[in-house]
Amino acid sequence: MPMDKKADIMIVGAGAAGLTSAIQAAREGARVLVLEHMEAAGKKILSTGNGKCNFTNQKQGIAYYRGKDPAFVLPVLGQFGLEGTLQFLEGLGIAPKCKRDGCYYPASGQASSVREVLLMECRRLKAEIACGIGIRSIEKRDGKFLFHTKQGEFESKACILATGGKSAKKTGSDGSGIPYVIGFGHKEPELVPALVQMQGKQKFLKDVAGVRIDGRVRLFVDGEAAAEDEGEIQLTEFGVSGIPAFQVSRYASYGLLEGKKVLCQLDFLPGMEKRQAKERMCQRFFAHGGGKTAGEAMTGLFPEKVNRVLLQESKIPWGREARACSQKEIGRLAYLVQHFEVDIIGTKGFDGAQATAGGVDTGEIDPRSMESKLVQGLFFAGEVVDIDGMCGGYNLQWAWSSGTVAGRCASAFCKKSRQAQGELG
Ligand SMILES: Cc1cc2nc3c(=O)[nH]c(=O)nc-3n(C[C@H](O)[C@H](O)[C@H](O)COP(=O)(O)OP(=O)(O)OC[C@H]3O[C@@H](n4cnc5c(N)ncnc54)[C@H](O)[C@@H]3O)c2cc1C
Repeated sequence: MPMDKKADIMIVGAGAAGLTSAIQAAREGARVLVLEHMEAAGKKILSTGNGKCNFTNQKQGIAYYRGKDPAFVLPVLGQFGLEGTLQFLEGLGIAPKCKRDGCYYPASGQASSVREVLLMECRRLKAEIACGIGIRSIEKRDGKFLFHTKQGEFESKACILATGGKSAKKTGSDGSGIPYVIGFGHKEPELVPALVQMQGKQKFLKDVAGVRIDGRVRLFVDGEAAAEDEGEIQLTEFGVSGIPAFQVSRYASYGLLEGKKVLCQLDFLPGMEKRQAKERMCQRFFAHGGGKTAGEAMTGLFPEKVNRVLLQESKIPWGREARACSQKEIGRLAYLVQHFEVDIIGTKGFDGAQATAGGVDTGEIDPRSMESKLVQGLFFAGEVVDIDGMCGGYNLQWAWSSGTVAGRCASAFCKKSRQAQGELG
């Protein structure tokens, strides 16, 4: 427990964004205290990238970020983007390793090293982190932020809310920061799981469980194309998973929230025209299908479990002679190969999600500073804001970028208010 319950800047939440804010603000000379309700700081960082921490990506741009207004990220990334992040983390000791897909990981291969260097820098800068703090409420009174906690009252000139979203609750982000946001007059955010496995309705899913297959995932909400992505699809008993499914899942979450019909269409021959797909199937069944059954004609094209379900759904018996199938039947099969439909009826929820979509309305935040447009001296950083990144290091990039801007600008705000009060010069 820190002795001093007063600081220039109080940061709520010691995740990637909060710790970055603390470091950047302390480097600018601010006295910083981070209030964390868990017993330890930076817990979520440990689970990132399957324990290896995919902390950013070589490819950057607005296309990798989602939210009500994705362009909100531009002034933030413009101040502190990929280059800044690499310098920042390298400066702390993280040797970056870039994989072929553009994803950056620490050369140590350990997410724990990223957490450790952030904590080391906080210690070096004397940016204190108080863990196990139960905040009851936060208010701004007479130009000061007051934090009413189970451990007494804390006070600061500026406040950075970096409480994350609601994904992976066991790491501390449980949505308990949202009442503070609303308490300051900001709109109540609607949070939904993002980067999450989607639950399918069809019984055949149990027959294809465990399959990994390359393809394209297209998501339709009430018949409208909402999003699509390509890569390795994982079929599970529960539904559709894998990176392309994760990438479109936020749109499924919103669709389900609004009571809309959500449909996931899998294309196992992506990039191939309908005519070519039919030709390919005709070749297998007719030109090369002599002496083969329908099942044998499919062997070698897709995993066997998928072949079985495709034939079953096309009403072609596995053991029927391949050449005995009609053109119409093969046409239907070819169509199904590119339009394999799964009705989405749910997701794995926040506990199974890697990110949260929704958050503090970006229309209420100044992207040049991450300061609230409603309350002077109140700043936001990280996943608490209505920005969610795609898989590939973009959520952490957002944490480093927004954390840096909020930390630096909160420090500048404190300097300015000290000057105004005649404490300086
Ligand atoms: C399994 C998994 C894997 C992931 N892998 C990657 C990856 O490889 N690359 C990538 O870019 N992103 C990844 N992400 C997403 C990424 O981890 C998050 O987007 C990022 O950590 C968000 O940082 P944050 O600081 O905004 O929020 P968090 O990391 O959620 O931190 C919020 C902090 O605030 C604290 N807090 C919350 N409420 C309160 C309160 N009321 N009082 C005090 N403290 C509070 C929490 O305990 C927590 O410490 C992954 C996420 C998960 C769950």
